[in-house]
Amino acid sequence: MQILERESKIMKRYQMMIGGKWEDAASGEWMDSADPFSGQVIAQVPRGDVADAGRAVQAANHAFREPAWMELTATERGHLLRKLGDLVERDAVRLADIERACNGKNIIEVTGQVHNVAQWFYYYAGLADKIHGNVIPINKAGVFNYVKYEPLGVVVAITPWNSPLALTAWKMAPALACGNTIVIKPSEFTSPPLLELGALALEAGFPPGVVNVVTGYGNEIGAALIEHRLVAKVAFTGGDIGGRKVAEAAVRHLKKVTLELGGKSANIVFADADFEQAVNGAIAGIFGASGQTCIAGSRLLLERSIHDRFVAKLIEVVGAARIGNPAEQSTQIGPIATRAQFNKILDYIEIARKDGATCVLGGTALTGAQYGQGQFIAPTIFTGVTNNMRIAREEVFGPVLAVIPFDTVEEALKIANDTDFGLAAAVWTTDLHKAIHCSDRLEAGTVWVNNYRATSFTTPFGGYKRSGIGREGGLNGAYEYLQAKSVWVTTKPQRANPFVIG
Ligand code: NAD
Repeated sequence: MQILERESKIMKRYQMMIGGKWEDAASGEWMDSADPFSGQVIAQVPRGDVADAGRAVQAANHAFREPAWMELTATERGHLLRKLGDLVERDAVRLADIERACNGKNIIEVTGQVHNVAQWFYYYAGLADKIHGNVIPINKAGVFNYVKYEPLGVVVAITPWNSPLALTAWKMAPALACGNTIVIKPSEFTSPPLLELGALALEAGFPPGVVNVVTGYGNEIGAALIEHRLVAKVAFTGGDIGGRKVAEAAVRHLKKVTLELGGKSANIVFADADFEQAVNGAIAGIFGASGQTCIAGSRLLLERSIHDRFVAKLIEVVGAARIGNPAEQSTQIGPIATRAQFNKILDYIEIARKDGATCVLGGTALTGAQYGQGQFIAPTIFTGVTNNMRIAREEVFGPVLAVIPFDTVEEALKIANDTDFGLAAAVWTTDLHKAIHCSDRLEAGTVWVNNYRATSFTTPFGGYKRSGIGREGGLNGAYEYLQAKSVWVTTKPQRANPFVIG
């Protein structure tokens, strides 16, 4: 890595990590990484292309077959992951600051996420030598059959800008625990934190080529990685447009794939809910990370009898939120990560107005000294939304809440499930039967009862319907990086007729 002086600001120039070495792109081209708050370019990363994809996959494929990795026991792989978790903990403040400078996420949230990244490495470190096969009571005499689980080979991890370290760890930890090698392709907006993570993997002692980090645009190096003959699996988190392209390419080349895509999650509040808790949950659901999370509770379904009181309380609390520099601990709402996303959110606000929704809070961009270069959108609440409006059907990925009233449990469930997405949902009630009934009926990979936005390495995360394919986290997450091998051992030779299959 180099430190450069540019426009009298200190800027870091990174290289890619391929086969344990730091390298420029074959093209010699660079891309800027800019701070969404200040607008300052804080780093440059190589603009990798098909040639770099090829080098990285070759390095990962070579490392997969080398004794230094292939012959490690699962326990030894666990030791390496534990070491990596320790290094992430050691550097948590630095890593969080680098991620915050790339995507503008509030430092308080991103710091928590980085500690959580360490926990993901620790969890899969512990799990590595506990994933065992089975002996099958096979229905044939004279044979012994066992099933063992083996790694897939080279895994490509493609991740978005909103939580780059976390969403990479969700893939990297299980992939490595299970004995795969990995090529990481971060979002073009947030490569620096993952190049730093790559350096920590080397420091932890992973053999060269086991972890590779390449940088560049999705349609350039990203597409080339997926198409490479030696890639066994693609693990993708991102939007559904990119996701569809990734899935199509993976299918075309017969690659295994997991997809974590977008959402339009319903947050259902019944009149019997704990009012204060539900208000906090609704706010955390949509205004945490300025709504730039796949699990955002972007549709708030309110039982009609509490609708007006609930909305008034939301306006009071959210209207007083501290909006500004994400580097400050006290900031509650930060900037939008990219200019394209900022424009997209403003477009959706206009669409909601034109479709007849009523804007009761926000609805504008924010300008002024405290808003840096001005990539801020006021926390926005629309009431009078119907579920057929675009604001209720399409993912905005910003601080924009659509409030929809309902009268009965069945109506709430019907509205909640009337969506192409199925990532998450929540229900707020003090009635246990209602809570269980709703969680059974909600078509979503995660359902929260009286909480919102909780995730953990111990439990599977993923989407129903168009929100994705496969799961990350827990034991389910490990099996996404393994394949079953059925081994037949003759214990008593007995075939009389070699032309008949037994
Ligand atoms: P994006 O789809 O634009 O990009 C994600 C990644 O895919 C980037 O690294 C990008 O370079 C790469 N990419 C894009 N097109 C590609 C192609 N054709 N081939 C290979 N790679 C390609 O998403 P984004 O804008 O970075 O992130 C926001 C989206 O991510 C939102 O829609 C959000 O819902 C989703 N997301 C989902 C989850 C989840 O777990 N379900 C979590 C966070 C974000």
